[in-house]
Amino acid sequence: HEGRGPAPRWSALNLCRLVERAGLDADKRAVVCDGESRTYAELRDRMVRAGRGLAALGVTPGDRVAVLARNCLEYLELELAIAHAGGIMVPLNYRLAEAEIATLLGRSRSRVVVVDAASSSVVAGLRPQLAALSAAVGLPEAPSEHVDIEYDDLCAGDAPPISVEPRMEDPHEITYTSGTTDTPKGVVWTHGSVMWNSIQQCMDYDISSRDSNYVLNDLYYVGGRHDFTWPLLHQGGTVHIRRSGNFDARAVMRYLSENAITKVLLFPVMLFELLRLPDLLDYDMTSLTTIMSGGEPVPVATIDRITTAFPGTDFIQVYGLTEGGASVTFLSGADARRKMGSCGKAGVHNEVRIASDDGTFVGPDVVGEVCVKGPTVTPGYWNDPERTAEAIVDGWLHTGDLGRTDEDGFLYIVGRKKDMIISGGMNIYPKEIEDVLGTHPAIAEVAVIGVPDPKWGERVCAVIRPEPGADIRDEDITALCAGRLASFKKPTVIHLVEAMPRTASGKVQKQVLRDRLATPASDTEVSA
Ligand code: ATP
Repeated sequence: HEGRGPAPRWSALNLCRLVERAGLDADKRAVVCDGESRTYAELRDRMVRAGRGLAALGVTPGDRVAVLARNCLEYLELELAIAHAGGIMVPLNYRLAEAEIATLLGRSRSRVVVVDAASSSVVAGLRPQLAALSAAVGLPEAPSEHVDIEYDDLCAGDAPPISVEPRMEDPHEITYTSGTTDTPKGVVWTHGSVMWNSIQQCMDYDISSRDSNYVLNDLYYVGGRHDFTWPLLHQGGTVHIRRSGNFDARAVMRYLSENAITKVLLFPVMLFELLRLPDLLDYDMTSLTTIMSGGEPVPVATIDRITTAFPGTDFIQVYGLTEGGASVTFLSGADARRKMGSCGKAGVHNEVRIASDDGTFVGPDVVGEVCVKGPTVTPGYWNDPERTAEAIVDGWLHTGDLGRTDEDGFLYIVGRKKDMIISGGMNIYPKEIEDVLGTHPAIAEVAVIGVPDPKWGERVCAVIRPEPGADIRDEDITALCAGRLASFKKPTVIHLVEAMPRTASGKVQKQVLRDRLATPASDTEVSA
């Protein structure tokens, strides 16, 4: 801030930690992307300049600033800049269709959209849709003023300093959920939740200035920015960002090894890809201290293979959700084998309980809805008091996930409420069946869903992606389930697929599978 007035004092840790780090580690690399990097001092200066530029553009405290961009070097400084101007970031999934983007811009009533080159034509085409959308919901017409400005020009000017001081309870961002089960919901993260999430991860995952992470998933997603990334920047580590694009397992292994990365988040679908590499064990992974996974159930067979392949690396499984925090519970490497299938215990500041259908909390080993309380839990959905009141009751977030805890307090997710199968009055949890089928060497991936049945209500259907060239017969499935699953849980419909439908964040879309396979099957039919 030399020569540009006094350094701002923010109560929001995200900003003030960064400024503090820039004082301590001015020349250290903070962010790296595609061979380019920014030091801590550069990140701080650009954040201040871009923040002032946004304010000069008319962003006032509380205004929403949408970001429609693939991973790039500027993404994180932009997040800081928006906060500096007192704005609320709305990170959008660039893979959404035009109409979906228009809907989210309309719902968040974003004042400014920051867009990368690849999406600029999408946004340019949206203005008529936004106007129509505003009219349809009875909102005043979108302002007619339309300013286009290059990001570098925004940062280049010498706009006046900003005196905004975001408070802990002020919204920092509105992040839309993955849309795995429903239309995406706008979840508010406050400056406080960002801070607590970082504190929790730094404490639970032992993050220090010596750490570096490699961000493989998209930054618009909570996992991209709040798992490892911000916590690590608060501690003075280095964040490596992979440009958005297809996951290339070999290139990822090479990058991790050549850059001595210490921490990485890999979704289950990425783990599957890594495990298919014939030369997986040839890479030098001695620097890699932690692999984190989660976002959807990690099959037990995958955990087993990963922990065997990387014996010197902690394999942490996390359970997190946009509404509750990036990692609400976690299972450390030390417990990975002892508590196989669990996603661990609540992080330092969170509490997890299981609620029965009538809302009362139940004890160990009883399956019910997972409820979460703690400082990383959202205050609610943006502009949606009804959904907020349904989801948050007496400070407890009702997650819509089903799970149980064991005697030691370890959480086991058994599935989503919406995915539970009810057949002949019996509750069936898909994960239990997926874990059994997933041990078959010819099965690369499996998703278990309920399909309509005239007699039983629903029947169990296993959608299987076989290993390339593998032959899966009904007898194999029957033999595998024998003695391991009660007969009412055994799949009676087997459906083979070449690929699973997935959300942009890589999760299997069971609703899409259910829609595809909704035709009632006859009592005895087993289709393969
Ligand atoms: P939508 O709410 O729009 O359907 P979504 O629930 O996928 O989308 P996210 O917030 O991205 O939105 O994902 C959180 C959900 O992911 C959790 O509620 C849970 O169902 C699932 N999940 C996360 N981690 C795990 C895990 N370790 N094991 C099982 N499920 C998990």
